[in-house]
Amino acid sequence: MSDVDLLYNELLSAFPEERVSRDQAILTSYATDLSSPPGVATLPALVVLPKTTDEVKSLLVAANRFKVPVVPMSRGSNIAGLAVPHKGEVVVDLRLMNKIIEINTDAAYAVVEPGVTHHQLSLAASKKGFINHLPTATGGGSSVANYLMRPSGNLSAKWDPDPVLALEVVTPGGDIIRTGSASFGTAGWRARYGPFPDLTGLFACSYGTLGIVTKMSVKLHDRGEEERLLITKFDSFPPALEYMKLIVRRNLADSVTFWNWVWNLFHELMVSKSQKLPEEMMKEDQRTPPPGMPFGIASARLSGYKEVVDAQEKTCIRLARELGGEHMPQEEIKATHPGTWAYLNSFFVEGIHLKPGEESTMRAALWLPGWLINAEPSGILKLEEEMWDFARREAKPPYMFRVLPFNHAREFFFAFVILITGSLDEEKDYMLHLRSAYATLYHELLAKHGAVMFRFRRDPTFLALTGPYGELLRKIKNLVDPNNIMHPGVNLF
Ligand SMILES: Cc1cc2nc3c(=O)[nH]c(=O)nc-3n(C[C@H](O)[C@H](O)[C@H](O)COP(=O)(O)OP(=O)(O)OC[C@H]3O[C@@H](n4cnc5c(N)ncnc54)[C@H](O)[C@@H]3O)c2cc1C
Repeated sequence: MSDVDLLYNELLSAFPEERVSRDQAILTSYATDLSSPPGVATLPALVVLPKTTDEVKSLLVAANRFKVPVVPMSRGSNIAGLAVPHKGEVVVDLRLMNKIIEINTDAAYAVVEPGVTHHQLSLAASKKGFINHLPTATGGGSSVANYLMRPSGNLSAKWDPDPVLALEVVTPGGDIIRTGSASFGTAGWRARYGPFPDLTGLFACSYGTLGIVTKMSVKLHDRGEEERLLITKFDSFPPALEYMKLIVRRNLADSVTFWNWVWNLFHELMVSKSQKLPEEMMKEDQRTPPPGMPFGIASARLSGYKEVVDAQEKTCIRLARELGGEHMPQEEIKATHPGTWAYLNSFFVEGIHLKPGEESTMRAALWLPGWLINAEPSGILKLEEEMWDFARREAKPPYMFRVLPFNHAREFFFAFVILITGSLDEEKDYMLHLRSAYATLYHELLAKHGAVMFRFRRDPTFLALTGPYGELLRKIKNLVDPNNIMHPGVNLF
């Protein structure tokens, strides 16, 4: 019997048969994600769906004993091949662990299991007068998985760059550890830091390579008395960046994002669910918008007491004017960009995510290979230039970018996205070409502009660039997971 057979037999004694699968059709559905080019798929050895922390523990203990590698998956909506098998691992699908355990309105946090989606948490938080941390990631994604991966979300602009407080984690050795205030049993889930070194951070950005997170407490934000979306148009990117820096650092806005004109047209498509691209999106010179259209818009979320929001809005409008931007009143944006308004208002003001499944409505024809990177503000200006050069060299229109501040505008996230408009089979070579061009680009931009990939891209050479930091991480990995069963195919270590 193979190790996998031995594991399978053992799991059947701990799990009901319908939650441990070897069925080919089921295995096939776990072999790819939205980033997999046609023909690139590896079947898992098994798929297991635990319902409790104790079940996760028995699964990991058994997998460790038989040295069978596992891939944790919360909702499988990442678009970078991070939750699919690469070497025939066991996929641990956590979607049935989907309870919101607590919404603490005194201390403004929620405790959730990994199967809880953003959509689920946003609706529950909203009913209690709170907003979930990041409106932009897809509603079908797990809040736990998204927060662990450093969300490219949007309420992180102001004081709270990191929404994660405390964790419950099952290690491959079968320990169930709790971090932060939760480590004390009686101290609740409210705090990230106690009197000891922070272990929550060890599991963030570990992509399932150190253990399985079975509970997380996350910060929620008070919705305030008034919530408002403020749209400002700019003719170029540099003044928009300056505007974003000022309104975040001076605490005028909860969040702000800059979207170039192509992205605004894309919002129209998303809301109308149309797959027919407007002609302007295909024009050769994508740096210049069509006549009458702004180069891009900054969308800011303001919230708080009404009088304060009125004053914040007035100040933002003045600052924008001084920098050459122009406020776009609600009536104007609703008339000229109705889809943009609907999309941004729903996410940033109402805090409502796309429902699970809705985010993929356009995927039959349009695919979005994205290049995600972050850098300090001056680096971001250089990246914009690099992006245009790259696009002219390597890409076919349409392409677009969005930029948003993190960490109180100390650093900015830059997402450059190329829409693939043909069928997957027609565009397979182009997608593979982009994938390798991006891989080179990440290295070049780190060397030239200090820009760091936002999420790990399965390229182990990056950890080597960190020197002793990476060596210490490797030692920790060996200690926590000596048999290397936790997601080895992701190539982090
Ligand atoms: C249309 C679309 C738009 C998107 N827009 C955004 C966006 O704006 N911002 C953004 O941040 N993301 C975005 N995403 C990406 C994706 O939605 C998020 O990253 C999402 O939160 C991933 O959650 P998931 O549950 O699907 O994670 P998964 O894909 O299940 O897992 C992601 C990674 O975390 C690990 N992992 C998962 N659960 C656990 C666990 N419990 N313990 C330990 N490790 C675990 C996995 O092994 C994997 O490495 C978008 C995706 C789509 C399809």
